[in-house]
Amino acid sequence: MEMTGLQIFKYLPGAKKTEKANCKECGCPTCMAFALKLAKQNIELEKCPYVDEKLKEQYLHSIKHPQKTIEIKNLKIGGEQVLYRHEKTFINRPPLAVIVDYKDSNSKNILNRINEFEIKGVNELFHVDLIILKNYNGEDISDLKVPTITYEEFETYKLIKIKDTDFQKTKEQLISTRQKAIKDKDEKFSDPVCVIMNENEDLYTTCAKASYYICKYANMLVFNKFDEAMFSTLLTLRQNIYTDPQKPLQVESNLYEFNNPDKDSIVFLTTNFALTFFAVANELESLSVPSYLIVIPADGMSVLTAWSAEKFTAQIVANTIKKLDIKNKINTRTIIIPGLLAHMIEELNEENPDFKFIVGTHEASAIKDFVKNLSL
Ligand code: SF4
Repeated sequence: MEMTGLQIFKYLPGAKKTEKANCKECGCPTCMAFALKLAKQNIELEKCPYVDEKLKEQYLHSIKHPQKTIEIKNLKIGGEQVLYRHEKTFINRPPLAVIVDYKDSNSKNILNRINEFEIKGVNELFHVDLIILKNYNGEDISDLKVPTITYEEFETYKLIKIKDTDFQKTKEQLISTRQKAIKDKDEKFSDPVCVIMNENEDLYTTCAKASYYICKYANMLVFNKFDEAMFSTLLTLRQNIYTDPQKPLQVESNLYEFNNPDKDSIVFLTTNFALTFFAVANELESLSVPSYLIVIPADGMSVLTAWSAEKFTAQIVANTIKKLDIKNKINTRTIIIPGLLAHMIEELNEENPDFKFIVGTHEASAIKDFVKNLSL
């Protein structure tokens, strides 16, 4: 754990009230100011000539990176700083790699399937991160969009490699390695950890075990088989674990189109909180009529939270409508707002005189019925 300003301060002359207290030789007005800067690593420890050995040792230990980061084909691996995601965040998603063996008569087909596989996430497309080519015959693979390395290259990377023969053993090794790296900052355990999945197990077992290893604490996973359903599951899980819990998932503020709308199609409006967006987008996609959705930038907050935090105001709506050039892009002048914002209807209409705002549904699931009864 990094030291706080107060923890640093108690070792300084200012706290000990010795002769050099607040002497300003470090360039800071007080020892407390120096301690606060040092905690943020905005000043070097050496700037204060009166730092004692105990502080030096503790501070240098506290800022030491617990786990190294390595890069394979621009994929960052390792570099984790906490044991539990809620303490801060996990940093680098463990790449999911597949070994493709050219001795396997089916290798071409597997390569094609891996290459074509992708799933759509929030603002992102997910695919297999890396292909490791075994017994590679040198044939042209430049049309592959998934990065590749040979097995020989993979062997040269400095990773702690665990062969997953026994779940219990792998689990214990993963946990103890991460604890030694993070808690003890033991350099012997500071390399990222890669689990090579057991090739002799069925897909369900592989998927269940890999799910556990993604949560705790593999920095990379290597598979000997590829399956679209398994990778969809694992990529989705990984996406959930490796998001910053302090930042809500959000989509871009924009004008989204559903079912090829024309200039007279109906228009909905909501915030850019990803869950809200996808709930509404799913409903609009399944409507029998085309539609638009205006997404307001609200720091990824849901409708009522955004309103109470003043991230969804009539002014912000007006600015967004202007920025997205809605007036020229669409003839429709009626905009349907979420039912939870019914109390804003007057101010929205006042602030946006070119449009008429009407109140929609509280729940996205009710949009279908709402549209059926809609007469604009
Ligand atoms: Fe305090 Fe050291 Fe800065 Fe002097 S040089 S003000 S003792 S932190």
